Order: sequence, then structure tokens, then C-alpha cells
Amino acid sequence: MHVLVTGGAGYIGAHACKALKAAGFTPVAFDNFSTGWRQAVKFGPLAQGDLMDRASIDAAIATYKPVAIMHFAALSLVGESMTNPGKYWRTNVNGSLNLIEAALAAGIKNFVFSSTCATYGELDGVSLDEDTPQTPINAYGGSKRAIEMLLRDFEKSDGLNSVIFRYFNVAGADPEGEVGEQHVPETHLIPLMLDAIDGKRAALTVFGSDYKTKDGTCIRDYVHVMDLVDAHILGLRWLLDGKASRVFCLGSGNGFTVREVIEASRIVTNREVPIIEGARRAGDATSLVSGSQRAVTELGWEPKRSTLQQMIGDAWRWSKQPAFTE
Ligand code: UDP
Repeated sequence: MHVLVTGGAGYIGAHACKALKAAGFTPVAFDNFSTGWRQAVKFGPLAQGDLMDRASIDAAIATYKPVAIMHFAALSLVGESMTNPGKYWRTNVNGSLNLIEAALAAGIKNFVFSSTCATYGELDGVSLDEDTPQTPINAYGGSKRAIEMLLRDFEKSDGLNSVIFRYFNVAGADPEGEVGEQHVPETHLIPLMLDAIDGKRAALTVFGSDYKTKDGTCIRDYVHVMDLVDAHILGLRWLLDGKASRVFCLGSGNGFTVREVIEASRIVTNREVPIIEGARRAGDATSLVSGSQRAVTELGWEPKRSTLQQMIGDAWRWSKQPAFTE
């Protein structure tokens, strides 16, 4: 059984391809290589294409006849979405609309979608679950919420079934070292911190020390990429079993400040993290922490590696491997 994985050459998509293969599916990585890596496509065929080019989606679907779509491909940087919102709305929403229409035209009704806790916005101190109102404060979160709405509309019109996962902060790497996180430019906290520890960059800039939290820095809920993709296999099976569309939050339920992540990195690597105190980054919510057990109780999800120590350790080992070059 083939599964079309958009963004299959990217960080989370490539880990999902590995998990799909291990679960007995054939992942077809659909990617335009705007941010992904050819060397990360190693678990099934590649369908090079672009979600803005409907014909390339139709061609991939006609060739592989997937039973489901896993849709990871998106622009996903909060900061960039604040300075270039048009790019985010156009790419994420129009690309997803093309994909949904192409899937439905081919009779594919199973859709696993990567949404985000950035759809919630500034709800200080609230632990977030699937019923929490979505009031995004950045264009990234806004565009993802819009895609959730598209999926609901096409369920009513065409019977599209979806599992929507709202991710918290995804971190770590495949402990077997076949794939890992590599962004150019890198913008995410843990890889930037490890680069600073390793002297690959001068220092980590802490974005804001005046938030109303215990140490002034933002709180996030970090989840291991391997645990995250395990949930996707369960979500896929949920749909293939004919169960109804459902939203699931994927987080560990534990919130950590930026300074706590810095301290954990110091302990894991046994090295100091050079830091610079910087200004707030536009679009950052104070605190985003999952309060949901739905994935555990309904999907049978068992996060196994989502401790800071494990995530930072796996990312650290990955950072020591030769980087992807193409
Ligand atoms: N962060 C930071 N310095 C950096 C990158 C990130 O202080 O160089 C902070 C950021 O403000 C946020 C947290 O680390 O509070 C996680 O940011 P990241 O970009 O990794 O993920 P996001 O929350 O944007 O999805």
C-alpha cells in the first residue's frame, strides 16, 4: 500500500517515511526540494513535484495510486510568516487546496494533516487541547488553521476523512541516524543551541527575557520526532479502519522555558551554551503546552522518547554526522 507523503524529503516527512516503511507501507516522498534533501529520501520512491503545480500532484497520484495522503509540506517558520505573510498564505493554503482536490479527483479520501499548536495563539497559562479555541497570532498558524477548515468543508462536500495532528515543538532525530533535522537556514532552538555549543555559530540568541514566565523566557512543549511519526501511523490506521475524522494534539504535556532547554543541553553535552540576550521574536506566544491525552486514550499513542534529555541527545548525535549536501 502506497502513501503519498508531501514534504517527504523534509525533517518530519522523512522520519514519517521511515516509520511508514517499518509499518509495512510504501512511502512515496513528494517534494519540491525547496527545503528538503534528496539524501533524506531513502525509504521509498521519490515523486518530485510542487503543490502549486496541480499536474505534478495528479501525476504522482496516477503513478502510485496511494491509499492515503500524509501532508507535511508547508512553510513553517513563525518569524518569517510575520514578515512575509503573503508567501505563507499563498503557499500553504493554495498548495493544500490543490492537494485536496487532486486527492478527491482520484477517489482518495484518507488524509493525515500536520497542523500546529501555533493555531492557538496567545492563551497564557492555558493548557491546550483539541477543544481550545483557535486564535492564531501569526500567519503560519493562521494558514494552518485555514487548512483545517478546508478539510472540514471537503468532508461535508465530498466525504474526505482526516486525522489532523496539532504538533507542539518537534525535536530530536532518528536514533539510528538515518535521518535527522537539517534546515538552511536553521531557525529552531535545539539545533541552533547545539551549533553554538559546538562552535559552529558564535552564540544562541535568547528571543526575549521579559515574558511572564518563571525565568522570563517562552515556554514550549517538546515532542520527539520518532514519537510524533508513530502517532501518524496510528492515525493512518485509524482512517484505514474507517473511523471518523478526528483532531489530536501531539505534545508531551510538559512545558519548558528556553532557559531550561539551555540548561538541559549543558547537562547532556557537558558543555556551556554561549548565549546572547536578544529581543522578542514577532509572533511568539508566551506559552504553548499540550493538556491533551486524547492521542493516548483514543489512538493508543505511547510517547517513548519525549524527554528533553533524549531529544537533545539524539539531536546532538545527529549533529555529529556528515550533513546532507543535496
Ligand atoms: N528561540 C530562541 N532563540 C532562537 C530560536 C528560538 O530563543 O534562536 C525560542 C523561540 O522564541 C521559542 C522557542 O525558542 O520560544 C522555540 O522556537 P523554535 O523556533 O524552535 O520553534 P517554534 O516555537 O517557533 O515552532
